[in-house]
Amino acid sequence: MTTYSEDSVTCGSCGNIFQHCSLNSTNAFGSMDLDTRPPEMQRSTMDAWIQRCPSCGFCSSDASVFNPDLRDVLSSPSYRAQLADQSLPQLAATFACAGLLYESNGQINDAGWAYLHTAWLLDDELKTAESARWRSRAADAFLGSMKRGTPIVPQPGESEVIVVDCLRRVGRGDEALQIIDSMGVAEIPEVIRKVFTYQRGLIQKKDLGCHTVGAALKHPT
Ligand SMILES: [Zn+2]
Repeated sequence: MTTYSEDSVTCGSCGNIFQHCSLNSTNAFGSMDLDTRPPEMQRSTMDAWIQRCPSCGFCSSDASVFNPDLRDVLSSPSYRAQLADQSLPQLAATFACAGLLYESNGQINDAGWAYLHTAWLLDDELKTAESARWRSRAADAFLGSMKRGTPIVPQPGESEVIVVDCLRRVGRGDEALQIIDSMGVAEIPEVIRKVFTYQRGLIQKKDLGCHTVGAALKHPT
């Protein structure tokens, strides 16, 4: 069961106080997707993951904290246009805006996640082209972060699993294969080796679809 609580948030940018539903508890039955998107009921809790000030449009996982250096980005035409973009669900626009601010603030990993979350919401709307654009942007942010020596997640090999799936899903299979080929088999856990074998098969079939970790582990290798 998923439960929420209603919290008051004081916007760190403009001081406006607004209400936000925070997640108290949820559950997840089944396997997560290869890019870590959780199964239900956690899958449907994304509105609790991000805050959007209705006054100034500041979007962040914690809108009570604001870096004043971002004020120019917040008021920029490109940010305001993204905030008001009605071609995508408002929650997707909120994640996209948070990603723009994270990226400007040097939080490249956080930007990657925000862009990937944007893509997940667009997947649900069957907006394939728009979803691919944000997923590709997520992949670029993740790759940039990894190149600087900051993995997406701390567990060895799991950052590569996530970015390989982002790349495969948007047709950047050659880049995904390069990452898989660069992984030393001896230094990665068996589970991750199985996922890479499964991913290699999907890439060779030019399969851009959503698949779960469970399917990868059940697949004969
Ligand atoms: Zn505000």
